Amino acid sequence: MLMPKTRRTYCPFCKKHTVHTIKVVKKKKRGELSGGQRRFRRKMAGYHGYPRPKPSGEKPTRKHDLRYVCKECNKAQTKAGFRVKKLEFREARA
Ligand SMILES: [Zn+2]
Repeated sequence: MLMPKTRRTYCPFCKKHTVHTIKVVKKKKRGELSGGQRRFRRKMAGYHGYPRPKPSGEKPTRKHDLRYVCKECNKAQTKAGFRVKKLEFREARA
């Protein structure tokens, strides 16, 4: 899918429509010190096994994690992501 690099949309911090730049955020590694991750490691140790039903199979596409960064206040916000195989950016139309 071809998407514009910038877009005019509502900024909840400025409380008006401003120009936003769109960028894709990549998945980060899980923090090994968080409580949930420590509990998970503890459960996985020894003969305990995986604590929840294993996800069934791979999905053909993935949801892209987009951030809309306001050009006026530089704050980022998220909107609903969507599934596409390929995400490309094009220059915004003048
Ligand atoms: Zn703003």
